[in-house]
Amino acid sequence: MAEKKLKILVIDDEEGLRDMLSFALTQEGYTVLTAKNGREGIEKVTKGEIDIVISDIKMPEMDGITVLGKIKEIKPEVEVILATGYGTMETAIESLRKGAYDYINKPFNIDELLFLIKKIVSTKQLKSQLVDLKEFDKLKDEFLATISHEFRTPLTSILGAIELLTDSETIDNEERLKRPADTPESMKLLGIIKRQTERIRGLVNNLLDFAKMATGFWELKKQDVSVNKIFDDAVKNISLLAERRKTEISRQISLEGKQFPAVDIIVNCDYEQISRLLTNLLSNSIKYTQESGKIALWYEKTPVGNEIMFTVEDNGKGIAKENLEKVFDRFYRVDQSLIREEGGVGLGLSICRKIVELHKGKIWVESEGLGKGSRFIFTIPINGGL
Ligand code: ADP
Repeated sequence: MAEKKLKILVIDDEEGLRDMLSFALTQEGYTVLTAKNGREGIEKVTKGEIDIVISDIKMPEMDGITVLGKIKEIKPEVEVILATGYGTMETAIESLRKGAYDYINKPFNIDELLFLIKKIVSTKQLKSQLVDLKEFDKLKDEFLATISHEFRTPLTSILGAIELLTDSETIDNEERLKRPADTPESMKLLGIIKRQTERIRGLVNNLLDFAKMATGFWELKKQDVSVNKIFDDAVKNISLLAERRKTEISRQISLEGKQFPAVDIIVNCDYEQISRLLTNLLSNSIKYTQESGKIALWYEKTPVGNEIMFTVEDNGKGIAKENLEKVFDRFYRVDQSLIREEGGVGLGLSICRKIVELHKGKIWVESEGLGKGSRFIFTIPINGGL
């Protein structure tokens, strides 16, 4: 049980009481530390990850109320139980006012104390569940707002194009029948419909993956595959987009011209997921790079361990230092403005990270800053991490 791992600090000037509590609480499975006075106790709270403090009130040098005040100053999340002697009701009340979780009258029964500790544990659990729920609720609201917007934009374009193709006010029926589907005007409109439909399909695919991921319903289907084949696939998947944006993609050579041997490597991995992950990184690189941008894609064996490292480098928008970690978060988009031509809902990279983690690998991004391009790198074990 999680509660058994709790760290409890007993502060009491009586050695016998410290030993007794230490023994009884250790028996219950808690980790127990002791301090013979307030100063030593505060030092331990500052250093260690203490969850609960049980302190005597009446101690020479520094009394329990002062200890309580200092603890609440340094670590307000630490819960404090104060042990009071009979007839000191006022101090007991003062301790509560100063933030003690509760007080217990001395001499106390150990079961009484254990009951209080369990109460603290369940309150802590409830509080953290509440934080989780609030976080989830916020995420859900953002999610719904983003999703609805992201779907509405391409749908509006599609509808607009269809209306122009079919509108009876601009084209009378007879003319519509006569109009061949491949006039430049119709082709342009059909092109819009196709692109925007692809965009919606991409969004739906990401959402489905995200849902699978969230329910833990995602298993890898590992097999031995050639890295060159994965590269061929990923490049093919984004070739239309690259063509449209006039992006140049080079393989096994960095943008600075460093060459990497193209000797094929066989990797034990989920072929579909790894090529999807690369496709995702490549398509991001195209999306977040100006037209006629440059992208480099290469793999290499890492010097340490039996790992393969993939790099997707671009000379595009780049990422500010403070956002380097955040881009892998769910729903995170550096450019939060909702009116964007490119980009999705900020799920792509969180899915990429999940795929890498399932392969027991690592993923990160490097960028010298805004406008200075990005380098997305990930490693996975060659033998499937067995
Ligand atoms: P999105 O659906 O917005 O593309 P991603 O999870 O794929 O979501 O990416 C999250 C954010 O990371 C993007 O919105 C973008 O701001 C930033 N990003 C991703 N790839 C690049 C890149 N190659 N260059 C610059 N920024 C990038």
